[in-house]
Formats: sequence, C-alpha cells, structure tokens
Amino acid sequence: MPTGPIDTVKLPLRVLLIEDYEEDAALLQRHLARAGYAVDARRVETADELRDALVDPKPWDLVIADYTLPSFGARDALKIIQDSGIDLPFIIVSGTIDEVSAVNAMRAGAHDYVLKGHLERLLPAIERELADARKRNERLGTEAALRLAQQRFSATFNQAAVGMAHTSTDGHFLLLNQRLAEMLGAQVEKLLSLRLQDFSLPSELESDASLYAELLAERRTGYRAERTLLRHDGSTFPAQVTASLLKPDGDPLPTVLWVVEDISARKAAERETTDLMTRLINSERLAAAGRMANTLAHEINNPLEALTNIFYLLQTHDDLPAQSRELVEVAAREIERVGHITRSTLSFYRKLPGRTIDLRTMLEEVVQLFQSRATQHRVEIKTRYAENISAIRYDPALRQVFANLVGNALEAMERGGGCLTVRARRVDGFASVTVSDSGHGIEREHLQSIFEPFFTTKGERGTGLGLWVTRGIVEEQGGTLRLRSCTTGKKHGTTICVRLPALMADPSTTAEAAITQAAEAPVRVN
Ligand code: ADP
Ligand code: MG
Repeated sequence: MPTGPIDTVKLPLRVLLIEDYEEDAALLQRHLARAGYAVDARRVETADELRDALVDPKPWDLVIADYTLPSFGARDALKIIQDSGIDLPFIIVSGTIDEVSAVNAMRAGAHDYVLKGHLERLLPAIERELADARKRNERLGTEAALRLAQQRFSATFNQAAVGMAHTSTDGHFLLLNQRLAEMLGAQVEKLLSLRLQDFSLPSELESDASLYAELLAERRTGYRAERTLLRHDGSTFPAQVTASLLKPDGDPLPTVLWVVEDISARKAAERETTDLMTRLINSERLAAAGRMANTLAHEINNPLEALTNIFYLLQTHDDLPAQSRELVEVAAREIERVGHITRSTLSFYRKLPGRTIDLRTMLEEVVQLFQSRATQHRVEIKTRYAENISAIRYDPALRQVFANLVGNALEAMERGGGCLTVRARRVDGFASVTVSDSGHGIEREHLQSIFEPFFTTKGERGTGLGLWVTRGIVEEQGGTLRLRSCTTGKKHGTTICVRLPALMADPSTTAEAAITQAAEAPVRVN
C-alpha cells in the first residue's frame, strides 16, 4: 500500500486508461505517481484498442474510464471487459457523470466512480478495489487448488487398483470405488445402500468384533486381516482388508477407511508353492528309500554271489545223495530268485538316461521355489552365476541336491533372517555350485553325523535324509561335496560346495550320452 513520498519502493501499477483527452490521462498518471505508484499506463479510445489491450500477455491491475467518449463510453468498455472474462477493478473518473448514470454504471458492474474535480477520492478507491481484487484472486486460487485436490482424490480413489471404501462407524457405505464394486460384483449405486458387514462371513465378523471395537475406541489406529468376503452372487474370495479410523479435525463424526485387496492370485501361488514343497519333500523321501533299498541290495548281493558259487560247487559233487542233491537244487533256485530281486532293485535306483536341463535354469528354478519362504523369514537370496554355466546340462534329479542345500540353509536362518548366496561357475571341466548361509552353523560334534541317514537336529520337522540323499546323488554323478561351517562370531553360517563334472552339450559327447555313462557306472555305496 502506498504511504506517500517517503516510501522509496514504488508499487508497480498497470493501468488501462479509457480516455480521449491526452492531458486528462497525463494528469491522472501524475496523480498516481505522486501517490507512490510506478505507473505503467496505456490510453485507449476505441473498442478495438481496448480489445487489443486486453490480450496483452502482461496482466492489467486496473481500469480507469471516462464516462463518455466520442466513439464509445464506460458502459461499452465494461461490457467488453466482462465478455473477455478478465476480472479487473473498473473505476469511472468523469467530469460529467450524473447520479443516475453513476448508479446504473455501478449496477452494470463498475466498482466505483469519482468526479474529476474530486480526485482526492480516487486513491482510496483504487487501494480498496485493488485489495478486493487481490482477495477475489486469492479466493479463486484457493477454490482452484481445492478443485484440483478433489479431482486428484477422486482420480486416485476411482482408479486405484485396490478396493477402497469409506463407511460410517456402523458399517454403512458412504463412498466406495469402482474396484471394490467390481470385487463385490455389484454397481456402486446399489452398494451404497448396503453395509460392509453384508459382505462378510458371520464367523469372521465375530472374530473382528474386538479389533473393530479397539479401533473405534482409538486404542489402535488401524488393523489388517485376511478375510473371506462374499460377492453379491453369494460366491466368496480371499481378501486382505485394512481398516483405519478417520477423524479429521473439526469433524465430529469419525468414519472408517477400508482398503480391500483381492488376494486370490497370491493364495493360489502360495498353495502351488506348498504343493511343490510337499512334492519336493516326498521326492526327498523317495530318493532316500531308493538309496536305502540300493544299499541293502548291494550289501546282500556280495554274500549272495558267494552262496550261489557254493551251491554250484555242491551240485557238481558226484557223491552227493540224491535227496540232498534235490534239496541243494531247490536252495540254488531260491538263491537265484533272491539274486534276481536284488539285481532289479539295483537297476531301479540307477538313473535312466533322458531329459537334461541346463545348470543355470535348474538353479533359478530352485531359488524361485524357495523365494516366498525366504521373504517370509526375512532372508535375502543373492545369486552369482558365471556366464559359462548355461552350457552345462544335468539330469533333473540334481534339482533335489540344490533344493536340499537351499532348504537347509533357509531353515538355519528361520529365526533371525540373514543372507543366502548361491554361486555357480565352471572351473577346469567341473561345475562348482556353492550355497552359503549366515545361519546358526553346525556344531562341531555334529559334523561327523550330518551325512548319515536319519540324523537331524530339527526334531519332528526334520527327516535327516536330505544330506544323505544329496551326497548319494552327487557321488553317483562323479562329484564331490565340501562343507565349511562356523557357529560363533560375525561369520557364523555354513557353506556347502558341490563339484560336478561339467557335462557339456557337445556333439561328440552329448549330455544325454554322458548322463547315460554316469547312470550306468557302478553305484557306489558309502
Ligand atoms: P534335515 O534337514 O531333515 O534335518 P538334513 O540331512 O538335510 O536333514 O540335514 C541334517 C542336519 O544337518 C540338520 O538337521 C542340521 O542340523 C544340519 N544342517 C544341514 N545343513 C545345515 C545348514 N545349512 N546350517 C546349519 N545346519 C545344517
Ligand atoms: Mg534338510
């Protein structure tokens, strides 16, 4: 606000002067400059000049108009400005205006009028009108910001990928978005007459009652639960429901914000992982049973061979009484039968040549299988695969080996989380796969026993067969296992390294052929 000549900083003022007398315009400008304004004025005399001035990109602050000009008057000017939609304070300064015309001009939208003989009234009028215009602009700005915030809110609310609703505290829908309406299988308008409880199972409503009561009593700010929700057609779907109490300042009635996520896909994936885990455990058991049968068969086979030889020698004795010979022949046939059983058991355990899978894919599959369990137990899985491992192919049975090692590593970190690293590289015709964890490690006195069948420190949860089977499969493929473990200090954890001959998909020795060789090699029993 100008405060007179002492004020060194002049207030800029862009004025549109609708005036046909140049001297009068100059007089007005001087008057304004004396009052402390840095005036930037343009004088217009015709409608066209006014229209041209209004499209000036620099905005005007004020219009001062003479009441009657030869070609057009203040009323015409007012109409042009109003039509342009620009909000400008409009003050009539005239030597001639009579009271009736002044009142009519004010009715038409002029903000004030001042007689040329009373210019002392002009400054307060300008100050007042500029202040009013500022307030009008501020209000418009606030309204525009509010409109924008509302538009953003409704866009977020309506386009959200999750279901959202506001309800009264007794559960009536006040607002709900399109996604929730789709989930519940009805139109938004139809749902607005219903309550959230109408879509919940009665048994689950009961279990939510105390959480909801705590929420309303403000003993908690929100809660999250997995629930089964009912669709409008009576079918159900699993959902994650989050409730939060909304109590904006000044609003006496609290409302509840609900966020609903359809977790059917996640549940299906979890089921699939559980199924896979069960299958994996079953195949661990199966492989163990196979190995056990193989051990027995092999152990029996050696004395059996000796017995077969003895009976053969007995049968060739000429002086054997006829009755005894008959008994020896029966015994020899039975021994032959036992031999057949053990031989077929041994061949059963040998891997049949068939499909192979590249090492990188195999490791990625195993890691993928354990990913959700790792996340659940705050275990980070890192993988470091060298480029050259993709060309190495193995029997899919090796998946069991890596699954056992990764499974054990995760189980060692279940309590406190940690980091699991799977590394694979190729060195001198061997593939080397290392599984390291930052788990509790293996006690020194257990190191001798962990590869024995049925040794477990996991009680009911363990089978004690994982490492035994693992070693069996690795050695059967001509590989070796190395283990390092530490139970104390910062570097606690276990690292197991599997070294396997790198079977390449080479045309001369195809992986299939190499696998066949490995499978047909004599089974080593430890
Ligand atoms: P299970 O896992 O069913 O107990 P395993 O043969 O896979 O049977 O493992 C035998 C035992 O070896 C486990 O019970 C555990 O004590 C120990 N063990 C194996 N791997 C780890 C590891 N990564 N960290 C700590 N202990 C391990
Ligand atoms: Mg195990």
